Amino acid sequence: MKTVLVFAPHPDDAEYYAGGTLALMAQQGNRVVIVTVTSGDKGSYRHTSAELAALRREEAKKAAEILGAAEILFLGHHDQELDLLPSGTLREQFTRLIRQYQPDVLVAEDVRFTEEPHPDHRAVARAAADAVSYASLPLMYPEHAEAGLNPHFVTEKLFYSESPALTDKVIDITATFERKMQALAAHQSQVEFLVEDILQQAEIAGLGSHELVAAARQDPLAALTLVIHQQAAAAGSRAGYALGEAFRYERFHPIVESLLIS
Ligand SMILES: [Zn+2]
Repeated sequence: MKTVLVFAPHPDDAEYYAGGTLALMAQQGNRVVIVTVTSGDKGSYRHTSAELAALRREEAKKAAEILGAAEILFLGHHDQELDLLPSGTLREQFTRLIRQYQPDVLVAEDVRFTEEPHPDHRAVARAAADAVSYASLPLMYPEHAEAGLNPHFVTEKLFYSESPALTDKVIDITATFERKMQALAAHQSQVEFLVEDILQQAEIAGLGSHELVAAARQDPLAALTLVIHQQAAAAGSRAGYALGEAFRYERFHPIVESLLIS
């Protein structure tokens, strides 16, 4: 049994980017732990931030349960404000969590994806890369040792991004796509918000009466499923699977990797 630690900027990111993979890992008996970094309290046109944070916490718990995750943690930072935290805050928190959970696998956004538009995603990708690189050094945060936490090297890293060019490993999610979508559907406030956000732009573009726009307004989940299914089909086709999720897979230092191959 492996422990899989996921750093998700917002309550729905683990499901959106890696839900099929996480469901598969959980089904295979591995222990999946999702760390939700912000409360996602800016993603709505209708709720107050406080209402939304409470709602999304419940949605995330439900989604984690559907994925089969063993645990979900909430760090409680505000949405869109990770770059306002004192420098190094997330790096220390992530290092502490890596030492606490001693994961075999880490899942996070790829810091090499420099086109990432969301500041929270950039902050989590950066801090995850920093933490996973140095959590094995005992002189980093010696106060962790005083709290009984041991340094830890994470062997397998799965980094997701919106750039297929950065990815080199496709996981077959054909059997768990349905579960991924059920988990995403549990984020009901976000299914509505994501589609509404796009529809508002469609209205501005004068496409308000387009049949696809009307259909999406009628059934936001169906519209989202269509888009995610297309993405999964594109990723899967690169490895001969019907549906897939793509990652950049990293294990050891390149020197160690070259010795393993030779
Ligand atoms: Zn996000």
